[in-house]
Amino acid sequence: MPWYRRSHWRILIALGFGLCYGVVAAYAGWQDFTAAWIAPFGTIFFRLLLLVAVPLVLASLVSGIASLSDLNELSRIGGKTIAIYLATTLVALLIGLTLVNVLNPGSYVPGSVRLGLQQTYASDVTEREQLAVEATERGPLQPLVDMVPENMFFAASDNRRMLNVVFIALLLGVALILVPNAKAAPLLALFESLDAVIIKIVELVILAAPIGVFGLIADTVTRVAGDSPADVPQLLGALGFYSLTVLVGLAIQIFFTYALLVRLLTPLRLRSFFAGVAQAQLVAFSTSSSAATLPVSMKSAKNHLGISDEVSSFVLPLGATINMDGTGLYQAIAAVFIAQTLGIPLDLFDQLTIVLLALLASIGTAAVPSAGVVMLVVILETIGIPATGIALILGVDRFLDMSRTAANVTGDITVAAVVAAMEGQLDTAVASGGEQA
Ligand code: ASP
Repeated sequence: MPWYRRSHWRILIALGFGLCYGVVAAYAGWQDFTAAWIAPFGTIFFRLLLLVAVPLVLASLVSGIASLSDLNELSRIGGKTIAIYLATTLVALLIGLTLVNVLNPGSYVPGSVRLGLQQTYASDVTEREQLAVEATERGPLQPLVDMVPENMFFAASDNRRMLNVVFIALLLGVALILVPNAKAAPLLALFESLDAVIIKIVELVILAAPIGVFGLIADTVTRVAGDSPADVPQLLGALGFYSLTVLVGLAIQIFFTYALLVRLLTPLRLRSFFAGVAQAQLVAFSTSSSAATLPVSMKSAKNHLGISDEVSSFVLPLGATINMDGTGLYQAIAAVFIAQTLGIPLDLFDQLTIVLLALLASIGTAAVPSAGVVMLVVILETIGIPATGIALILGVDRFLDMSRTAANVTGDITVAAVVAAMEGQLDTAVASGGEQA
């Protein structure tokens, strides 16, 4: 049996064990034991992945761009990538809005539960609102200004500033194409070497994925259910339909939109594609972070799907930073759900505004856990829904964050496969079984 299949099954089994352990631990009151002895393994795994994210984006994007023959090739591949990213996000948003309007999950939340949830999460709301205030007070061009860091090293020292790192990498890559070969060669060799070393570190880290995933899931379940296990059924009763709406939307995006793109625009078989992305999806689900999953996505794209380095090293870091279809879909559903629950009517214009805002918000969302909720506050405030409404959804947000991150990462890899196929840079022999570890 091929290596990657065994590997993703091992991670899936670890995830199942982590889930069972978490439920038992929550009911048995093992919160302290779990926090002291189990959670640290998950945290270490998560940190190891995040630790390599910035150097990986920098090294792979710079060497990816510099390996293009000229700026025309960069603008061709860049143009296609951004156009497909925007199109898939738009489709995700329309799926989300259609579902939330048709299924109307807000009508399933009883008034008493609504008040209870608003009281329980009042302090969490204040915290997120404060973070969002900064975002809403900016001028219309502020996102563009924010993209340009004033200090390279400062930008590279914060995982939330990945867009700055992408910008620096673009500049370096373009300049490397423009300077004479003799001058570019030493710096390019340095980035290529850094890229190879980081990928090796990632391979080593992934060996520990089952332990890390077990720790992360066990800790999450124990913490989420552990505070008051008795409230879980009530929470699920009230928010179950909302959660289901988000999950159905994500499933349609993954198994219909992406499957259709792969089927129509690449020579890959769907079975090979989904087997190839499984490892990245599982790590995304466990870590809730596209940035932490990037190293795994890059490895899977190359070793399991046969996407060339040239394409994956450009498309994937960009996607992890700006392409968040799952997040956009969730933000659209959550905004309308909150309005439905609070009895605020939204007309067509409001809904179209949500599409536009969620499109921008999903681009601006940092690729770290819970970032989508902060941007959701910005959307709510812009269309005049009280931001305190997020109290209604925070109880189930961690699980939905895990699921939407898995969709985000699948979207990035799908687009990488499509661009690779368009550019004649997809080695189908790899996906049909000839992959390397
Ligand atoms: N956790 C998500 C990601 O990293 C972002 C979000 O929706 O919160 O892709």
